[in-house]
Amino acid sequence: DVKVLKTIATLFATGALLASAATGAFAQDKGQVGIAMPTQSSLRWISDGNELKTALEGMGYTVDLQYAEDDIPNQLAQIENMVTKGVKALVIASIDGTTLSAVLQQAADQGVKVIAYDRLIRESANVDYYTTFDNFQVGVLQANSLVKGLEERFGDQKPWNVELFGGSPDDNNAFFFYDGAMAVLQPMIDAGDIVIKSGQMGMEQVGTLRWDGAVAQARMDNILSANYSDGSRVHGVLAPYDGLSRGIISSLRGVGYGSGDLAWPIITGQDAEVPSVKAIIAGEQYSTVFKDTRELAQYTAQLIDTVLSGQEPGGLDTKTYDNGVKVVPSILLTPYEVDATNYKERVIDSGYIKEEELQ
Ligand code: BGC
Repeated sequence: DVKVLKTIATLFATGALLASAATGAFAQDKGQVGIAMPTQSSLRWISDGNELKTALEGMGYTVDLQYAEDDIPNQLAQIENMVTKGVKALVIASIDGTTLSAVLQQAADQGVKVIAYDRLIRESANVDYYTTFDNFQVGVLQANSLVKGLEERFGDQKPWNVELFGGSPDDNNAFFFYDGAMAVLQPMIDAGDIVIKSGQMGMEQVGTLRWDGAVAQARMDNILSANYSDGSRVHGVLAPYDGLSRGIISSLRGVGYGSGDLAWPIITGQDAEVPSVKAIIAGEQYSTVFKDTRELAQYTAQLIDTVLSGQEPGGLDTKTYDNGVKVVPSILLTPYEVDATNYKERVIDSGYIKEEELQ
């Protein structure tokens, strides 16, 4: 009976509609996307996660967003679980990307698209795309800003004593930041304008495991007592991330910088985290590097939607990022230097941070 069949069809359609309305994906259910973020201990990853989730849900995907609190086995288990659940795409900001090879093979076998988010996943052929910022440029901006600050504050005191900090050695980005910075600083070291008094250079010596501020603080304490007890002073510190900068600031304050004749050094950073923008306004941190994580998340969501609808994304960089096994097609968004003179325009006018948050 045609009439009955029609009624059943209508009922099914209504049921499906109600089900999708209940999950919030009213428009269309496009399947699940898994998002694996490294930690909630840094604000940027919280913004990245939220922004990605909202964007993907708006496009009709269901999202499984997980944070691993910098624990490698935890992140691995989260990703395994996502693959078992049948996600169509994975967005991974890895803790140590080299530990994910087996689960990425399983993902590839199931046709899951894998996007390395912000941090490159190394030593696996099963990484389809890499969405990030121009990480080398981040380092260049940090070093240029350090030198600008040194000129301003200690222009008459050359050579400048500078100490170097690197990011986590299991994060591929850390090497790009360091190399970018050294492209600016090495010629100045060679020319004798900058002295690394501790002699500690190279990622093996200056790396900071898991980007841990307490580790940076302890290392700075050691550097100060071993190399600056003779009355010499630190003029600047290259710090690649705001969380490390805050540890370094505590260490410097601990030995009396900022009082008496120990002028406050120039300290860099990255991520434009609220406490660090406050520190910039207060003059404790000289600068940070702002990477608009909203832009990265939006771009990534769009990329996923393009790829899952069977289209080829365009405009990718196919030269810069070799993960040891393949050159991963990448997008490199633009980072910006932020200091006391331009933070309003960069982070407040753009809506990244609300003015009230800085009070
Ligand atoms: C990111 C930086 C961040 C750092 C620590 C890096 O991979 O690119 O933005 O400061 O991790 O979380």
